[in-house]
Amino acid sequence: MPVVDMLVNGGKIVSPDGIFSSSIAINDGKIVGVGNESALPTGNKVLNADGKYIFPGLIDPHTHPGAQRPFDSDIKTETTVAPLGGVTTMIGICKSTRISHNFREISIPEDVVSYTKIFPEAEVIINQNAAVDFAFTWAIQSDEHAAEIPLYAKEFGVTSYKFYIGYKKADKYTSNIGLSTDIDDGTIYLGFENIGKIGAPGIALIHAENMEINRIFAKREVDAHKNDLAAWSERSPNFSEAEHIKAYGYLAKIARCPLYVVHLSTGEGLEEVIKARNEGVNITAETCPQYLIIDNREDPPGIYGKVNPPIRDRTANDKLWWGINAKWVTTIGTDHVPTTRQLKETRYAKTMGSIHMPIQAKEGALDVWTIGGAFTGSQTMLPSLLSYGFHGGKVTLEQICNICCYNTAKVFGLQDKGSISVGADADLAIVDLKLSKKITPELFGVYCIFEGRELKGWPVTTILRGETIVDDGRFIGKSGYGQYLRRTINDGSSSAL
Ligand SMILES: [Zn+2]
Repeated sequence: MPVVDMLVNGGKIVSPDGIFSSSIAINDGKIVGVGNESALPTGNKVLNADGKYIFPGLIDPHTHPGAQRPFDSDIKTETTVAPLGGVTTMIGICKSTRISHNFREISIPEDVVSYTKIFPEAEVIINQNAAVDFAFTWAIQSDEHAAEIPLYAKEFGVTSYKFYIGYKKADKYTSNIGLSTDIDDGTIYLGFENIGKIGAPGIALIHAENMEINRIFAKREVDAHKNDLAAWSERSPNFSEAEHIKAYGYLAKIARCPLYVVHLSTGEGLEEVIKARNEGVNITAETCPQYLIIDNREDPPGIYGKVNPPIRDRTANDKLWWGINAKWVTTIGTDHVPTTRQLKETRYAKTMGSIHMPIQAKEGALDVWTIGGAFTGSQTMLPSLLSYGFHGGKVTLEQICNICCYNTAKVFGLQDKGSISVGADADLAIVDLKLSKKITPELFGVYCIFEGRELKGWPVTTILRGETIVDDGRFIGKSGYGQYLRRTINDGSSSAL
């Protein structure tokens, strides 16, 4: 009888098509068998998963290491927090100004460099510090970046690119987040065209939110002395998101470029996704737990829940759950920005007086206009979806597997990830659906928008390429075990779902 490294027995495997009781054989970091224990080799190690549900390791396609703190330390800390929620792969949406050892809090246009100059250093940082696997989505910050996309795909295995279409002009706010840039629609078109040319899994991510329109609404709120989380939402009307999806969906179709809308937050935006898909645009929509679960009139999170796009209301939450069930919304990301309460409270002064923060607050004033806008979410992606989605009767476990694992792997060209099948990487999140934890500031040491809430359904064990990195809810992995994931351009088949 052959022997393998590990056998996982007794659990129920969650797949996109159903849930079944089965054992999993793991050898050399890969899944080598799925089936009845009697039909599988014996394991040097046996893990008992009785009563647990086993998901493929989750992929968080929307994280921002290096956004507010140095990239190297963020890679180190956040990749040890994410697997507590079952995440084994993170995709970092990163800027050329923020992936080296040199961290400048306020970037200047000259800091925007070709990724060819900076990738070797970034790859070393990841391979030395990451505790989960990691891939890049790069921000396109210049015509040079847009022109070099085919080179980046071929040389560095980066096939996904982010376009901050609402932040075209460099100002205090965009420089503060490292997005010192002067892109225009020409840059965006050139990028779309080059992504269309490289073929699958090449994909363009857009942050759809028209900040030029938002500044008008922001001024109205400020003039009316409104400064709570709902005011932050009013600043960004639903049509501001929808309008960008419509406009850039059209351009993507012309350029034959697959389009991915990050953090879809409104019903109006969803309607435009549906229309675009029906008109032949290769479009994928991602939403985040915060847009499914939180109503902007709730407290918590209060002003700490500030983010772009803003937290919406119950109508939008429900429409997005509907969108998941109707398979228009097919992936989940978290928009995880490593941050703490203290960092949020002290960053305001650097962002005032731009079109994005149109206010001159009094020294020390802390309201929705002046607080930093970000939070961490990778570690609560699965528990929040299990609590409010599965236990709340909104979605099935199979759907959660689809939107957090299977679809994400397919869209981003991570073919070894996202499923429990022979030949895939042995990445597993072994979940106790009944386990509850209250989110407190101490639990993860970072600010989380679900603070104060009890979430039910947590991984007890997380396995990455055959190694147990979370045991009994505690991180036991190693920095440096995570690997940079280089993706390959395939035969031109579509990445559309
Ligand atoms: Zn983001």
